[in-house]
Amino acid sequence: MNPLNLPRPAWMTEELVLLEEQADRFLKAEFVPHVDKWNDDHMYPREVWTKAGGAGLLCAMIPEEYGGAGGTFAHEAVINRAYSFAGFDSFGAQLHSGIVAPYIWRFGTEEQKQRWLPRLATGELVGAIAMSEPGTGSDLQNVRTTAVKKGNRYLLNGSKTFITNGQHANLIVVVAKTDPKEKAKGVSLMVVETDDAAGFRRGRKLKKLGLDSADTSELFFEDVSLPADNLLGPEEGQGFVQLMKELPQERMIVAVHAVAMMERAVALTVDYVKQRTAFGKKIIEFQNTQFELAACKTEATIARAFTDQCVERFLKGELDTVTASMAKYWATDTLGNVADRCLQLFGGYGYMDEYPISRIYRDARVMRIYAGTNEIMKLLIARSL
Ligand SMILES: Cc1cc2nc3c(=O)[nH]c(=O)nc-3n(C[C@H](O)[C@H](O)[C@H](O)COP(=O)(O)OP(=O)(O)OC[C@H]3O[C@@H](n4cnc5c(N)ncnc54)[C@H](O)[C@@H]3O)c2cc1C
Repeated sequence: MNPLNLPRPAWMTEELVLLEEQADRFLKAEFVPHVDKWNDDHMYPREVWTKAGGAGLLCAMIPEEYGGAGGTFAHEAVINRAYSFAGFDSFGAQLHSGIVAPYIWRFGTEEQKQRWLPRLATGELVGAIAMSEPGTGSDLQNVRTTAVKKGNRYLLNGSKTFITNGQHANLIVVVAKTDPKEKAKGVSLMVVETDDAAGFRRGRKLKKLGLDSADTSELFFEDVSLPADNLLGPEEGQGFVQLMKELPQERMIVAVHAVAMMERAVALTVDYVKQRTAFGKKIIEFQNTQFELAACKTEATIARAFTDQCVERFLKGELDTVTASMAKYWATDTLGNVADRCLQLFGGYGYMDEYPISRIYRDARVMRIYAGTNEIMKLLIARSL
């Protein structure tokens, strides 16, 4: 899909164009007719995961030997954009396929990869990553959740909040201290299969400003006993390094998503102002409308160009965390600006839930906050000065 009629980026191969068409067809048939209802219900159903898995839209960058599609980050980016163009910005699939599954693929032992990845690819397992806690979000070195080794098992204790996929998830990567005396060096990633985990409890599905159908939730772990081999990777204390290594990818997922939302916002607004009239004219005929949309289209185009350049570099293994942080911060800030200006051109209808621009405006807000706040992005960028 190409709402702004921009040329295809160099990373977009013929195979990816076919994937984009396939994803678009599937989402239009299976998801688009239901997205409004899911938002009204404040929850999308569990079967969305198995349907996406059945259509090959989960774990696209995971090798085929582990049940994935054997693609690259470019495949993830194409699918990520397709969900957004389908108006399904609250689906936590980008996190499942682009963050949780890659943690297991890159850092898991062979046995862990065989155990979890094929079921993540089908949607039998829904992934979540539980970092944030009531007392700490940005400052992850100070998580209070602990995983204390007793014999050949770990006892996991702690509370997490704001967790995407929190109600559906049954495979949760939990950031915990295996050595509470240490800061970063004491952090490990523990994998919890929740279906049989005594002591695990889901808390509230949190009410939010946007992402209505997303099951962002609290999670509680009380003496959850885990086999020693649910520690991600071969040794303790690697969690912080593992988190840091995945940062560029996480940030690119958010940047790509933000750009798709911007493109859709501009396209929807152009359509609207060509139909709506005031003072005997189409809204598009007012110079203010033209200037506003000219500015929004320019910002969306620049965001797309920079993000595409970052995707290109990422695919070559050349994207550093600082540049990825620039993409995340700039694309999401710009999206906020573009969504606001586009909404204004809808007048009162822009404030109404039934107009997708209102949802884009609300859903966009969190992107400046999650995956590392934009202030943390600037902090990282500033360190490179
Ligand atoms: C819808 C949604 C989904 C989420 N999904 C997940 C998820 O799946 N998993 C998960 O673990 N978390 C998730 N989060 C949590 C999110 O990652 C955190 O909210 C975010 O990291 C910020 O942490 P905090 O809310 O504790 O804010 P705080 O860390 O308390 O920050 C508050 C403010 O202080 C600023 N600040 C903090 N430190 C500094 C500093 N050093 N310099 C300058 N300013 C600073 C921040 O930028 C922010 O503006 C989600 C959040 C939301 C809203």
